Amino acid sequence: MMDGYRVVRVIGEGSFGRALLVRPANSQEQFVLKEIRVTKSRRGADSSHREAALLSTMNHPNIVAFRDSFEADEHLYIVMEYCAGGDILQRIKGQRNALFTQDVILNWFGQMCLGTKYIHDQRVLHRDLKSKNIFLASNGAVKLGDFGSACVLKSSEAYAYTYVGTPYYVSPEIWDSKPYNNKSDVWSLGCVLYELCTLRHPFQAASWKSLILKVCRGAYPPLPSHLPYELHHLIKHMFKTNPRDRPSLNTILTSHRISRLLRKHL
Ligand code: ADP
Ligand code: MG
Repeated sequence: MMDGYRVVRVIGEGSFGRALLVRPANSQEQFVLKEIRVTKSRRGADSSHREAALLSTMNHPNIVAFRDSFEADEHLYIVMEYCAGGDILQRIKGQRNALFTQDVILNWFGQMCLGTKYIHDQRVLHRDLKSKNIFLASNGAVKLGDFGSACVLKSSEAYAYTYVGTPYYVSPEIWDSKPYNNKSDVWSLGCVLYELCTLRHPFQAASWKSLILKVCRGAYPPLPSHLPYELHHLIKHMFKTNPRDRPSLNTILTSHRISRLLRKHL
């Protein structure tokens, strides 16, 4: 029992600590309790409080809902909505080699776009969009989660970015030590869309050096030809090496050639 929550089981383990499935006393509802170690000396302390603070201001069907946060002996706890469908990476692995249908790709990707547009409209950058940080609720809703790397963009402020996780989703400008911006999230979302289309990462290599080279050239294996032209076209633009040439979420949802297809599937 922890602050009125009973632990059902551990559902994830990460560098931060653990993710637990919990149930409030006297309730059948389930939530996720993310446990984050916060030792005073660590520079991570601020970022975990930022994660809770940021998540608590979000209110959108495609963002994991915040419920509560509290501190107890060297740990910060964030209580949030439980997404029973697991993360998108698990779903991709579960496909074995069977490709997702076009309807699933467009519906899931459209929901990711709505969630990302919502946070960008609030000047929040996610900075760690990847299939492992995007969740499925039991009602089929797709939800962006893990705001542990997110930040609020203040005008004229540039953010240097030190990346610690998996490198597959990192955009050319980050490898080039340029500041992270909203289009860097667009690049990462492009990587997730490509994964939905092919079940593979667009940029993969045996060494860091050749991975970075591929990313900085924007060179990815072609998509299956049966996919609609609009998807080929969109991915090509999301992987433009110059962030200015990439579409914003607003453009993707309203004026890009894909937008009509996306709206039809939402
Ligand atoms: P980390 O900072 O370690 O990446 P995450 O918030 O991504 O932390 O959580 C780690 C793992 O726990 C996820 O990859 C997922 O498998 C599980 N998890 C986290 N939040 C939820 C949630 N709201 N619903 C279902 N599973 C979750
Ligand atoms: Mg994560």
